[in-house]
Amino acid sequence: MPKDILKVVLIGDGGVGKTSLRNQFIHKRFTNAYKATIGADFITKEVQKDDNTKVMLQLWDTAGQERFQSLGVAYYRGADACILVYDVNNYSSFQHLGRWREDFLKQSSLPEDEAKHFPFLMVGNKIDIDDRVVSRRQARAWAEQNSSDRMRIPCFEASAKDGTNVEEAFTYIAKMIKVP
Ligand code: GDP
Ligand code: MG
Repeated sequence: MPKDILKVVLIGDGGVGKTSLRNQFIHKRFTNAYKATIGADFITKEVQKDDNTKVMLQLWDTAGQERFQSLGVAYYRGADACILVYDVNNYSSFQHLGRWREDFLKQSSLPEDEAKHFPFLMVGNKIDIDDRVVSRRQARAWAEQNSSDRMRIPCFEASAKDGTNVEEAFTYIAKMIKVP
């Protein structure tokens, strides 16, 4: 059985919970420590893509370079999918999704044709906090505007803290990636 390694990058503003989402998915754990990682890194985890395919998801996390608003070519190069993360309690993190997506498309230098059906998935994180400023409807509207006929952007709302929808989001993106 072939086992592919699929590169998935997490992008979005600093503090939205990218590292925490990955930790929750990999270790089923949450810590409150806000630690800007030094140097981008990746962790690999096997997931069931469909009934008879397992794939290795190579999940890339930033090193806190988000504050420079661009993560650089190496982070994006060769990505098979991209998870756009915002915080449902932070409106500007939602407004910045477009910029992140543009940066990804520019730096990953995908051919235009591939860019049109490249798998993006949105995660609105921190739904355990009762201070929401971004509605589901707004999120869906953004996703629709940025979707194409050939690739719809799914919207998940999650909590890295209590684990809501974390496994679901990562498993879903594995299913979106076309493997030859
Ligand atoms: P990153 O900069 O996007 O990697 O964000 P982090 O994962 O470092 O998280 C930033 C801060 O938000 C940390 O203090 C986390 O503990 C906290 N955090 C992350 N996800 C959640 C969540 O789902 N719920 C709550 N309440 N806090 C979260
Ligand atoms: Mg981080």
